[in-house]
Amino acid sequence: PPTKLPRVGTTIFSVMSQLATEHRAVNLGQGFPDFAVPPRLVEELDRAMRAGHNQYPPMTGIPALRRAIAAKTERCYGWRPDADAEVTVTSGASEAIFDAVHAVVRAGEEVIVLDPCYDCYEPAIELAGATAVHVPLGAPGGGPASFAPDWDRVRATITPRTRMLMINSPHNPSGATLGAGDMAAIAGLLAGTDIVLLADEVYEHIVFDGARHETVLRYPELRERAFVVSSFGKTYHCTGWKLGYCIAPPALSAEFRKVHQYNTFCSFAPAQHAFAAMIDAEPEHYERLGTFYEAKRDRFRAQLLTTKLQPLPVPGGYFQLVDYSAVSDLDDLAFCRWLTVEHGVAAIPLSPFYRTPPAGQRLARLCFAKNEATLDAAIERLQKL
Ligand code: PMP
Ligand code: GLN
Repeated sequence: PPTKLPRVGTTIFSVMSQLATEHRAVNLGQGFPDFAVPPRLVEELDRAMRAGHNQYPPMTGIPALRRAIAAKTERCYGWRPDADAEVTVTSGASEAIFDAVHAVVRAGEEVIVLDPCYDCYEPAIELAGATAVHVPLGAPGGGPASFAPDWDRVRATITPRTRMLMINSPHNPSGATLGAGDMAAIAGLLAGTDIVLLADEVYEHIVFDGARHETVLRYPELRERAFVVSSFGKTYHCTGWKLGYCIAPPALSAEFRKVHQYNTFCSFAPAQHAFAAMIDAEPEHYERLGTFYEAKRDRFRAQLLTTKLQPLPVPGGYFQLVDYSAVSDLDDLAFCRWLTVEHGVAAIPLSPFYRTPPAGQRLARLCFAKNEATLDAAIERLQKL
């Protein structure tokens, strides 16, 4: 049959995880924690299932969870969305991204994405019959491995067909974060247009070195035209539960919900009850998440300095990019395969995050959302390179 997604194969995350299993490699590839979820969350989930919350919850998410998300947003960012009209619970950030694109992007329109970008963006755009316009990250003079956006370059790609701009901070795969200056630049770019912003903020609570997360939600002129997406999988160490949410103004949320209701209709009910209880009961969990991961980042980076891999700066998220050019001249796909098969450490190459990967770039992504023992085992192997 004719394919609708000619550029799509099996995702690099599945490919590398399978290779890691086959070769008994330490898996620092696919991004997921190997430590437990907060004990209280498991108790709340168990309680919810025993209490009989096992049938379809409301399409938009249970009111208690939408209220908890609204209150948490106000606590963290000083602005409270309307829990009924502006917050929708989804089956992970992936569903939210898909729904947001399909809610507003029409066939023949264009969506600007900044490369490298997370792999689910472009297929959602293409299935809508639209075109992804790829703008490379990297400010002029920012060096070979800079992931700062060049907003003038973005401005130059805007056409009358541009319907959406997608941003991601903290950024997967680089860990780069957007600052207040970027938010002002985006506001300037979008002023006077009807371009919708999609902000992927799944790593919102994982920001380091005392910086604050510059969410779109802090900026009225941005949030009034934005879908802001987050994921409980990242914040609560439970990527397999696939629960997330989208905050958007009432008119955008109404369109978003039209897609959501025919895509999944609703999302895993027991977890909605568990998160509603957890967010209110233990706000310190997400308040301390940055410190928790910062300690892991610092320890892992110090260890990497005992290897030939050169770590790049990591302002946020739970991925460490390393330059491997002192070890190998293989391209990144071949290098990650070789590292997994021959040295027993699985990593993620960067090229699958690009439409046109930069020639000669020798970078791989390592996930440090792991127990110390896992990272120690990986470092022991990486020291032999
Ligand atoms: N966006 C980014 C940047 C991600 O890294 C991920 C997950 N790895 C997602 C979206 C999808 O999140 P979820 O698992 O909640 O669908
Ligand atoms: N977001 C995860 C990562 O970047 C992968 C999620 C997936 O496997 N789809 O590693």
